[in-house]
Amino acid sequence: MKVFLAQNSGFCFGVKRAIRMALEVAQQDRVYSLGPLIHNPQMVEDLKDHGIEIASHAGDMRSSTVIVRSHGISEMERQILEQNGNQIVDATCPYVRRTHEIVKEMCESGYPVMILGDAGHPEVIGMLSYCEGDKEVVSPDFDPAGKTWHKLCLLSQTTMQMPDFLALVGRLVPHCQQLMIFNTICLATTERQHATRKLASHADLMIVIGGRNSSNTRMLYNICTAVTQTVLIETATELSADLLNNRQIIGLTAGASTPDDQIIIVYNKIMEINGNGDRVTEINAIPIFKEESC
Ligand code: SF4
Repeated sequence: MKVFLAQNSGFCFGVKRAIRMALEVAQQDRVYSLGPLIHNPQMVEDLKDHGIEIASHAGDMRSSTVIVRSHGISEMERQILEQNGNQIVDATCPYVRRTHEIVKEMCESGYPVMILGDAGHPEVIGMLSYCEGDKEVVSPDFDPAGKTWHKLCLLSQTTMQMPDFLALVGRLVPHCQQLMIFNTICLATTERQHATRKLASHADLMIVIGGRNSSNTRMLYNICTAVTQTVLIETATELSADLLNNRQIIGLTAGASTPDDQIIIVYNKIMEINGNGDRVTEINAIPIFKEESC
């Protein structure tokens, strides 16, 4: 049995930056994040131990230090935080910030805004808040039949799949006189999904490691299930000998909010169940999948 990790698995730049900023301010003060700082229940518990608490609503805090998560907040939430005298530490990922600027600018220029994404996700709610005009959120299977637009601005939640975005563009073009397209899927996401798809096509089992509440982790799960048998786990305790038995190639991948140590623990657990004495202490020691690996 061989075990490989997909390239670019785990923490992305935006999540690393948000955690670093939160830990820095937590050294001086009690800090709140509006919703979990990261979509990973185990990591959220660790952060609590460092004094980073979760608040559910912007109105819950007064004169406190509040960290804004990598996927941002809405204009309204920002206003409430400011009105209540909170000090805002803004860890919105620059790629998400760019989507806010595009939505605002295009909306002010009179373009209806269409976002490919999950309407209930805080990142998308934040994006929508920058548009006072026509706006809609669509899913990958959106069918524009019977509709026409004189002009339209299309962009995406940062964690969507590129093939879905391209297919939507193709379907919209015949219905629009003018279509402004902004590729706002972040590069880290595209690369991780591409590497995961490649590994899944060679593996007879894919194990996706990450929070079940993480949008980009679920997206990796969807990519893998379309190709091979796949499980999504949050911790190594969910692994069993039954699952791993008689596998030739097991692929591992992890969402942008999965810390390295959770990936290492899963890898070592697979080795243990398989009766293999090899253990790793660093993420770099786990074999990365390359086409020539098979
Ligand atoms: S997935 Fe991309 S857009 Fe989202 S926080 Fe990470 S780097 Fe930023």
